[in-house]
Amino acid sequence: MKNSSSFFLLFCLFLFSCSKKQENRKRQKAVTILIQPFKDLKPESINFVTAEIKKVYPSVKILEPIDFPENTYYKPRNRYRADSIIKYLSEKTQDGFVTIGLTSKDISATKGKVADFGLMGLGYRPGKACVASKFRLDKKSDEQFFKIAIHELGHTQGLKHCPEKTCFMRDAEGKNPTDEEKDFCRKCKLILMTKNWKFSSI
Ligand SMILES: [Zn+2]
Ligand SMILES: [Zn+2]
Repeated sequence: MKNSSSFFLLFCLFLFSCSKKQENRKRQKAVTILIQPFKDLKPESINFVTAEIKKVYPSVKILEPIDFPENTYYKPRNRYRADSIIKYLSEKTQDGFVTIGLTSKDISATKGKVADFGLMGLGYRPGKACVASKFRLDKKSDEQFFKIAIHELGHTQGLKHCPEKTCFMRDAEGKNPTDEEKDFCRKCKLILMTKNWKFSSI
């Protein structure tokens, strides 16, 4: 009798510790995505990208547009350094948040031997901040811009480049393949779903 009741107590403690752990894990993962526009970007672009992200990740907040910090400007090419932008945004981003900077200006970073390589976006894996630029993209619609933004956010969530040609996480390989990208693939979706992303179909 004594044995079985202590076993029951142990079992309860075990259950309790498991559920507590799960709760902590859940709380850590429920981050809010902060949209940080730079002042050059039109409100229509900000609103379109935000609305599209919200379809798969509801916890999104738009911040007031800001100027680029002076140290991010690369005068020889009239560009802004994506790595410096990410560093600046990361420092501003508190725990429980991920920030994406959005701009229509050209951005760049060092890539291999190229000291200043023009980019559509940059995000570290995992990371607290990333940046997307519509400078090298279709100017008529913000569809491509959204695809770059969600790709960079995917990196911050821990996603690598994906071999699936229609997946948002496809490696651009120096080109712009966004018109062939349709959605996250099933494998990428399953990873994102463990981080509170919501998909109507997988
Ligand atoms: Zn990438
Ligand atoms: Zn994928």
